[in-house]
Formats: sequence, structure tokens, C-alpha cells
Amino acid sequence: MEQPVLSRTKPQTYKTVVKSIINLTHDIKEINLELISPKEISFLAGQIMSFSVMPDSQGAKTSRTYSISSTPADSGTLQFIVKHVPGGKVSGYIHQKLKQGDEIELKGPFGNLYVRDDGRDMICIAGGSGMSSIKSIVTDLLQKNEKKRQIWFFFGGQTQKDIFYTEYFGKFEKQFGNFHFIPCIADKNDVSCKCERGLVTEIAHKFIEEKIELPQELSAYLCGSRGLLEAAVKMLVSSGISEKNIFYDMFNL
Ligand SMILES: Cc1cc2nc3c(=O)[nH]c(=O)nc-3n(C[C@H](O)[C@H](O)[C@H](O)COP(=O)(O)OP(=O)(O)OC[C@H]3O[C@@H](n4cnc5c(N)ncnc54)[C@H](O)[C@@H]3O)c2cc1C
Repeated sequence: MEQPVLSRTKPQTYKTVVKSIINLTHDIKEINLELISPKEISFLAGQIMSFSVMPDSQGAKTSRTYSISSTPADSGTLQFIVKHVPGGKVSGYIHQKLKQGDEIELKGPFGNLYVRDDGRDMICIAGGSGMSSIKSIVTDLLQKNEKKRQIWFFFGGQTQKDIFYTEYFGKFEKQFGNFHFIPCIADKNDVSCKCERGLVTEIAHKFIEEKIELPQELSAYLCGSRGLLEAAVKMLVSSGISEKNIFYDMFNL
């Protein structure tokens, strides 16, 4: 049965200013925003916001959804991870035009991806900019000193140049014996990376079969493209995980 959400916040409009923009990979940027008004936000780790920007000179506002990658503990700032979609209106604007000091209007928080209070071990699967929600979820849990649940985070890319935040999650792995970060690359010829090789869903399946006891006791949290979500749900269900314990918000690409 769906767990009740105790602290879901009513969506509202936030004015923010860009504090910094960091290149994470060749096509993914980290966007750090400071809230101007209201000055604080309350959300659940894993939730999303709607960006409203004016990507061209005609002055029409365009909105797109992005998942928050920061945690509720940093209530005066918001972080996002945005992939440049070739030909994409808003991601193109964010990558090519947005700069430090610019103001952006956001609306939210929205979404049903947040950690259920079910005490179950967790398997998280993300690809590319799908890192965002899972980074928020994992960081939030570990900052709250979650040591009971095993947390497995499988992060997929095509080659090594698509993999990021390895140091960030490596520190958590050293600190928390219950947290496991498994970067995976699809390109089996790329030998330079200390990653698992194969599709992220294939690697997760291998771990569930070989290393994770009682997979039917897991909850799963997913973030990424429609293709990744569909493949992950199929694999998890075939591994014995009930569909009612698999949580995600569908990316529309
Ligand atoms: C729940 C949810 C969470 C999300 N979280 C994130 C996130 O954290 N990070 C992230 O990067 N993205 C996220 N997304 C995706 C994001 O909302 C946008 O869809 C994405 O950035 C693309 O928007 P865009 O305006 O750049 O592309 P669009 O302009 O909408 O274009 C999308 C695609 O259509 C193609 N296209 C555009 N115009 C045409 C045309 N005239 N003819 C043919 N093809 C065309 C483009 O080339 C592109 O491939 C999320 C989506 C959802 C639903």
C-alpha cells in the first residue's frame, strides 16, 4: 500500500538567481541556484521543479521539468543536473546562454519519486542526468546517518566520459559500509574506467542475482530516460521485486 507522505509541500513559484554552473561531462552541467523569494523551500528528496525560461528573443516563456539534485537540508539553494539535448529548446538555453547572476523562475515542488518509509533495502538505478534525483535521495539518507538499509546505486553511461561524481559517492562508500556505488559503462572496449561494463540494467541484474540476498525485500528508485525506466522495471519485476515497490517519475524523452 502507498505510504502516506507527511511533509509534502504545496507547489508555488520561486524566484532564484544562478550562483554557479559547473561542467560535469561533455553534455551535462550542474546548475546551482540561490532562492531570492521565497528565500527557503521545503521538498522531499527526489522531487522535481518546473523551470520557466525565455529561450528566444520572441519573449515567450517555455517550461520544462528538472529533478532537484540537492537535499532538503540546503533549503536556501537548489541544485539541478541538466543534459544538453541536441536541438532542445530549454536544455540548449541552459547550456549555451544561462550564466551566473541570471534570474530564473521555478515552480514546484512536484513528483512522486521520494523515499518510502518502508525500512527496506534500496536499489537505485539512474542514467545520465537521471543522476539528479538519486543524488538527492542518497545524500539525504546518508546525511541523516542511515546505516540500517543497504543502498545500492547503479549509475550508467555509454563511456567513461559520461560518468561523474565518482569522488563524491566514493567518499560516502568509505564512510558508510551499507552504501555501494556501481558506475557502469555500456562500451565494453573502454578499458580505462574503473567501472562495470554492460548496460546499467544488466549489471544491476547480475548484482541482484549474485550479491544481493532477498531481492524480493528491496524497494527500487529509478531516474532516467523512458527507455532506461522501462528496461529497469522489466528487469526488477523478473528478479522478483514487486511493481508496487518500484518508484520513478517518467522522463518524457
Ligand atoms: C519527471 C521529469 C524529470 C526530468 N528531470 C530532468 C533532469 O533532472 N535533467 C535533465 O536534463 N532533464 C530532465 N528531464 C527532461 C527535461 O524536462 C526536458 O524534456 C529536456 O531538458 C529536453 O527539453 P528541451 O526543451 O531542451 O528539448 P525540446 O525542445 O523539448 O526537444 C526535445 C527533443 O525533441 C527534438 N525536437 C525539438 N524540436 C523539434 C522539431 N521541431 N522537430 C523534430 N524534433 C524536435 C529535440 O531535438 C529533442 O531531441 C525531466 C523530465 C521529466 C518528465
